Amino acid sequence: MSALTRPKLSSVKQKPELPPEIYRQAVDQADLAISITDIKANILFANEAFARVTGYDAEEIIGKNESILAAEQQTPPRLYQSMWDDLAAQRPWSGKLLNRKKNGELYLAELTISPVVNSQGNTTHFLGMHRDVTELHRLERMVRNQKVLIESVVDSAPIAFALLDQTGRVILDNQEYKKLLSDLQVKEPAHTLLDSLLPLWHDALVKEPERCVFARREARIDRVGGRPRWLSVSASVIEIHSDDEENCFNIVQQRGLLLAISDVSSLREEQERSRAAVMQAVLADEERTSAIREGLSAAIFRLEEPMNVMASAVSVLYRRDPLSAEALDRALAASREHLELLRQVIPHHAQEIEVRTNLNEILRDVLEISTQRLLGAGIVVDWKPAITLPPIIGRPLQLCMLFKALVDNAIEAMNIKGWKQRELSLSSAVDDQCIVITISDSGPGIPSERRHKAFEPFVTDKNGTGHHIGTGLCRAQQVVADHGGIIDLEASKSGGCRVIVEFRLDGDPI
Ligand code: FAD
Repeated sequence: MSALTRPKLSSVKQKPELPPEIYRQAVDQADLAISITDIKANILFANEAFARVTGYDAEEIIGKNESILAAEQQTPPRLYQSMWDDLAAQRPWSGKLLNRKKNGELYLAELTISPVVNSQGNTTHFLGMHRDVTELHRLERMVRNQKVLIESVVDSAPIAFALLDQTGRVILDNQEYKKLLSDLQVKEPAHTLLDSLLPLWHDALVKEPERCVFARREARIDRVGGRPRWLSVSASVIEIHSDDEENCFNIVQQRGLLLAISDVSSLREEQERSRAAVMQAVLADEERTSAIREGLSAAIFRLEEPMNVMASAVSVLYRRDPLSAEALDRALAASREHLELLRQVIPHHAQEIEVRTNLNEILRDVLEISTQRLLGAGIVVDWKPAITLPPIIGRPLQLCMLFKALVDNAIEAMNIKGWKQRELSLSSAVDDQCIVITISDSGPGIPSERRHKAFEPFVTDKNGTGHHIGTGLCRAQQVVADHGGIIDLEASKSGGCRVIVEFRLDGDPI
């Protein structure tokens, strides 16, 4: 190195040397039980903390083997085997061992052993560091036991629980909830239930979870190919402590929503069965009254036609034969009076009050009521309900009659001698703020040119060509219109008839 490039002595920084005594004092005074052994684990050095933890003074422990601390028969031999395997491979070893103090007391030691390797690469000593973790372990076990206890209590409860964080993620649930998950076959039952009971829950949970609190609200869940389930749901807000590392020094709390879900299906099923029976009786009565009403209306309608012809004939006859014309006029007037009397005895529609009505429930009732006829006609039913359906404000009996009339039409259309394909498909869905009900049959269908006439009063082909549309469709259209909805006919996939009924969820007419 030339004189030019050689650094000045004053500019070379000397690495500060730590006096060996400091090393010794640091190790001696450390709050960790430290020992240094030869390669056979014979103790050469032990610090003050080692004496505190084990009860052995340095003088009495030096020269003894570390195995003096072993609690006989307590630590599995394979643990020592793996310890010595690691040390032989010059790898540090960490683990927990059960030790015995000088006074015979057992304690759990969390121990780390590091091989001390010389410049030739040989292990010359071992450095052992351990601390008594008995109390920590006891607390850990207590927390673990309590967790297991709480989990088994929560799991054995006959109620499903789901705890949602503020983003709506389910962070805790129990066995009943898991059963619900596999039974309902939806992505997250808690979300399905909240969607049905509290449509704006997601937003509310983020901004103001208190708005999501409710008690014992019932949701009806309709499953394809299964019986419906009724679930009673309560929601309450609870505080959740964050266990993220970054929140170690600050207690961060967020609010979660705890859902408690109990199954009230057997009670509701019982009620549903008796309601369907009552509905069947009321419907039968209403059908009889309707038949009288429609029969009389049709008779009056048909009688009025020739009477109108006669009235024009009378006005012509007055010029030629006033006496006969007068007699005929009187007869006509008398007939009109009789017709008016007839009109007055037409039974009125019973007034029904509007209530929150679930159309899945109505459609199930209709299928229940029609079971005998469907079986008798050998018709296979495919019922695809929306899993949850918001209620509409409507008249249940009127709606039941509407859908019964549509199902009856479908049955009649397919129940023709020799007709092979006999399938009835019903579905409900929510589409853009509307509930859409579809009823399709695999019958002969209605030719497109006749479809627009099908809703006219007294139009029926039932006794003629075999088409299934009768006065029922006119009445059906009236019921749909009374509920602010629309009804339409089109050809089904199989060439049969598909009736589509739509109701707005906000109640406004479509
Ligand atoms: P041991 O006869 O000691 O042996 C158990 C198994 O280890 C056998 O399979 C044997 O083949 C193998 N083995 C033993 N010594 C060696 C060796 N030198 N090289 C390779 N394999 C070997 N044990 C505790 O119970 N508590 C402690 O706190 C503890 N601290 C230790 C600290 C250090 C620094 C070291 C090096 C070891 C420590 N040990 C401790 C391990 C201890 O030395 C014993 O191995 C252990 O206690 C089992 O004792 P034992 O008499 O039942 O069986």
